Amino acid sequence: MNVLQPDRPPVTTEQAAAFLAETFGAEGALSLLPSERDRVFLVRRPEGDLVLKIAGPSEDPGYIDLQVQALLHLERVAPELPLPRVLPSLAGRACEAYPGGGRARLLSFLPGRQMREAASTPALLRDLGGFLARLDRGLAGFFHPAGRQPLLWDPRQAAGLLPLTRHLEPAERALVGELVAAAERQVLPALAGLRAQVIHMDATLDNCLVDPAAPERICGLFDFGDMMHNALVVEPAVCAAELMVQGGDPLTVLGEVVLGYDLVQPLQAAELDLVFDLVLLRLAAGMTILAARSALNGEDEGAYHAAVRQALDGLMTEGRERATARLRAVCGFPEGTAAPAGNRSLMARREAVTLPGYEHFYDEALHLVAGQGVHLFDGAGRRYIDAYNNVPHVGHCHPRVVNAVSRQMARLNINTRYLYGSLVDYAERLVATLPEGLDRCLFVSSGSEANDIAWRMAWAASGNRGALVTAGAYHGVTELVGSLSPCGIVRGEAPPAFLRCIEAPYALRMGGSARAGEIALASLDAALASLAEAGLAPAGLMLDLALTSNGILPLPEGYLQAAVAKVRAAGGLFVADEVQAGFGRCGESFWRFQQEGVVPDIVTMAKAVGNGFPLAVVVTSEAVARAFSERYSFFSSCGGNPVACAAGLAVLDCMEREGLQENARTVGARLKQGLAAAVAGDPRIAEVRGQGLMIGVEATDGGRTGGVRPDAALAKRLVEGLRREGVLVGKEGPEGNVVKVRPPLVIAAEEADVLVERFARVLADAR
Ligand code: PMP
Repeated sequence: MNVLQPDRPPVTTEQAAAFLAETFGAEGALSLLPSERDRVFLVRRPEGDLVLKIAGPSEDPGYIDLQVQALLHLERVAPELPLPRVLPSLAGRACEAYPGGGRARLLSFLPGRQMREAASTPALLRDLGGFLARLDRGLAGFFHPAGRQPLLWDPRQAAGLLPLTRHLEPAERALVGELVAAAERQVLPALAGLRAQVIHMDATLDNCLVDPAAPERICGLFDFGDMMHNALVVEPAVCAAELMVQGGDPLTVLGEVVLGYDLVQPLQAAELDLVFDLVLLRLAAGMTILAARSALNGEDEGAYHAAVRQALDGLMTEGRERATARLRAVCGFPEGTAAPAGNRSLMARREAVTLPGYEHFYDEALHLVAGQGVHLFDGAGRRYIDAYNNVPHVGHCHPRVVNAVSRQMARLNINTRYLYGSLVDYAERLVATLPEGLDRCLFVSSGSEANDIAWRMAWAASGNRGALVTAGAYHGVTELVGSLSPCGIVRGEAPPAFLRCIEAPYALRMGGSARAGEIALASLDAALASLAEAGLAPAGLMLDLALTSNGILPLPEGYLQAAVAKVRAAGGLFVADEVQAGFGRCGESFWRFQQEGVVPDIVTMAKAVGNGFPLAVVVTSEAVARAFSERYSFFSSCGGNPVACAAGLAVLDCMEREGLQENARTVGARLKQGLAAAVAGDPRIAEVRGQGLMIGVEATDGGRTGGVRPDAALAKRLVEGLRREGVLVGKEGPEGNVVKVRPPLVIAAEEADVLVERFARVLADAR
């Protein structure tokens, strides 16, 4: 289609009126309306005004049909949108031949004030963005073979502007040339990969109508003459560019239109990243095409040219990076992978608004901006193997979890006092992973809450008060579980009188596994005796079955069975804290206790179960649950809400479909073996231990003393060195000398091998 030399048929008002009466059976007072390509008449009638559009003989009939069919489609699927309606001729056709060449259509007339005459407030711009998004949603299922019309306004035709730039002054010619070259290099290849459909592509100041009674509302859009199949994001970009011509800060105009669009039809990051370039291209096209028309046809460009220049200059001054960052922020995208302003200033800001005790890892805090699978990315785009984080159990930002959460979030999110299916589905699937008899679930949002509730269950069910945990245990942050977490007990404060700490079996330090088991059991006997002396009986023993904060210690054979028997004989319950060890992490079994021939009375789980969505569960027997419910009333505002359950279900799906427990077993074994081989012969490493993807590497000063003396400084050097090598691990144990290797379960064998290789290098360097 030639946008330079329109082919408006020379139809007079009288001819048009006669044609209208004869072909469409309509009468009224006709007057000519301005139009770029067609001959357009307004038909004033008491029963409602009409628009008669007559296209010239050179206009492709297929293309006219596209417009007609699009309007008919929209009338069917989005009847609420105020758009022109296609009115049939007396013969029942939507389009009629005009005598002597050309094609005619009759449309309803849309009342309203043209946007050009209205004040473009932010609210109006946003409403316009939203209107276009609804229009595009309506067009999503529309197809027409003529959707591929070549039109110079299409950003993909940018090269076609070059011959016309001779009508521009040299500086502008150079600018358009640069923009076109950049487009061909970067923008158009990227554009070709984006979602596409038929779009309107011409929401201009002339074509958009504002409601005079509600000046911040769009009440109509007409002129479907530029519509075509194109990338969806071209729609808001073209509209924003056209509205900038009215003046005002171009970035504000852009931000409001894009936000309005995004609120109805969320844009993808890759789309948003092209908006800036698409706007520049549209402005360049406008400037070039109008200059050419002015030179060729003597059309008056008016103030258009200067306005386009101003918008272009404003945008170029801001630059793509800043403008795009602003758009991302406007649409609520998380911090981008563009280099952040600098860790130090962010750290200073953070310290000014957080508690002095807010920890961060590493000498220099690591500023992360994205995650995917087993990888994390910092602001400079550097990729790390995450071998530390266990919350993203099935991998960072797993699409199945992300989609489940966002879909549920957008549909319904209430609380457990209402009935909804996902809670039941989730509870049923969770219970199916556990031994018979553990079939009552209570939902909260954190491991701390879960353990807090578990203790109350143990009190209620046993009628006793005494609490048993390992010295060095960590079970959470609430007042109760904090005081029952020796490693987190408030400095200088006495532990609760009803708490007794038992020794964890530390084979390395206690002369081997069997001996460690004996020592630990003897310490349990002593604790039970001490409780009895104080007139107390145990309510329960709570154990993190990976003994994580104790230094990632394996359970000696028979230890757990014996310990649980002792506690039960004294009237207490066994609470398995599976927050760390459970959900397949240990590889051999889904729950760690399953390897020990013991069925707990209560199981608590958190972290992994929601893959980062706050979800934690206490599962127990009917009897224990009943005892708890008789004594305590319980409600958690967010625990187990539909979004949490959607996350939980998605995590279980991933575990099953991706065989992640098996991956933990095989890759975990490979990793442990690899690390053991890498440290073999180095006296500074006393042991590589653990199971599945929960591995501890104990650093000692054995090299100097020949003993097993913890060397926290070496562990720290390894952690820092590995960070420099692009691997994230942690420190663990009462003395902080155990390097904790605990990646998401999706780690692949290749990544495990890379980790081992880098570990060996860092260990060798850490002299
Ligand atoms: N139990 C164990 C064994 C844990 O490791 C943790 C957290 N590190 C918790 C409970 C507490 O979980 P949350 O941080 O979700 O409260």
